Amino acid sequence: METKYWKVFKDDINHKIIERAAGIISDGGLVAFPTETVYGLGANGLNSQAVKRIFEAKGRPIDNPLILHVAEAEDVFKLASQVTECAQKAINTFWPGPLTIILPKQKDIPIEVTAGLDTVAIRMPAHPVALALIKEAGVPVAAPSANRSGYPSPTTGQHVYDDLGGRIEAILDSGFTGVGLESTILDLSGDIPTILRPGGITREALSEVLGTVRVDPGLTDLQQKPKAPGMKYTHYSPRAEVVLIKGERENVRCKICELVENYFCMGKKIGLLLTEETWENIDDKVMLSATYSKNLGSCLALDEIARMLYGELRSCDVAGVDIIFTETYTEKGLGAALMNRLLKSAGYKVVNV
Ligand code: AMP
Ligand code: MG
Repeated sequence: METKYWKVFKDDINHKIIERAAGIISDGGLVAFPTETVYGLGANGLNSQAVKRIFEAKGRPIDNPLILHVAEAEDVFKLASQVTECAQKAINTFWPGPLTIILPKQKDIPIEVTAGLDTVAIRMPAHPVALALIKEAGVPVAAPSANRSGYPSPTTGQHVYDDLGGRIEAILDSGFTGVGLESTILDLSGDIPTILRPGGITREALSEVLGTVRVDPGLTDLQQKPKAPGMKYTHYSPRAEVVLIKGERENVRCKICELVENYFCMGKKIGLLLTEETWENIDDKVMLSATYSKNLGSCLALDEIARMLYGELRSCDVAGVDIIFTETYTEKGLGAALMNRLLKSAGYKVVNV
């Protein structure tokens, strides 16, 4: 299949392109589009056949449910059978934005979307191109991240093309996404709001509005099953092995130098994704031994690191790297989402120094 590749400027949206893309969705096709988190792979969320094609194109396990994207907050009432006061507060405060909420589902939502669960995941994104597309399509748009299952999510149109070119009808390319990590998933179907996946909206921000907010213990306790089915899979992983080095800055620097020397001697191609603070103190000889290296900026600017992470993991693969050494971050604020993705992409391989 030929994949149409359309550039769309978010400040000057070409509505002819949006109409064509929405037409593809109405006809049961797949369109990748930008959101403020990562690129999504959209289909008509009320059409079982179209939704099944998402799973085929991505190679996604069918027991991993999808998020329905809406263009108006009121649409939540068409999709959820119960919208609590707490859900209303969350919607009023954080939509449009990187917050997905889980609520009891309406009966007519296809089983493929919810993977048989009695709840549904809903989000209103804050990207003008996403909103224009969903509005024009006139249906809730089911959209997981537009990557091959297990690979880091796409943060540019080119990433989508690299993964899904030839497998989907169209890509709307609007440049880099904003947050760079997926939405926070908040389960509001029980008594206490529970984070099932940390993301663009922090636990701290949610607690300020909603009071007590729990974090699904399955996210950190590997013996427990996470409540979001998608969180149990290996995920966000480049082809290269990822290893996290954790400890005092000077110890981290020394360990990275030692590992680079050892792996270089073994003939391995090395990737280094480092904070500015570590980067500045690495010897030139060590740096030159790396096939790919990137200064991610200050460890204090977590938003910038989050924005760059997936693209840099992909760049390591493009450079043919065998092993990537990178660092760990505070788990406060956006750091919770960043560390969740890093740990998963590393398969929980952490060298403590
Ligand atoms: P993605 O669209 O690739 O960001 O993945 C969506 C995430 O939402 C996956 O981790 C799913 O398992 C999760 N999800 C979707 N629907 C539900 C639901 N009803 N209950 C819990 N998790 C869900
Ligand atoms: Mg995904």
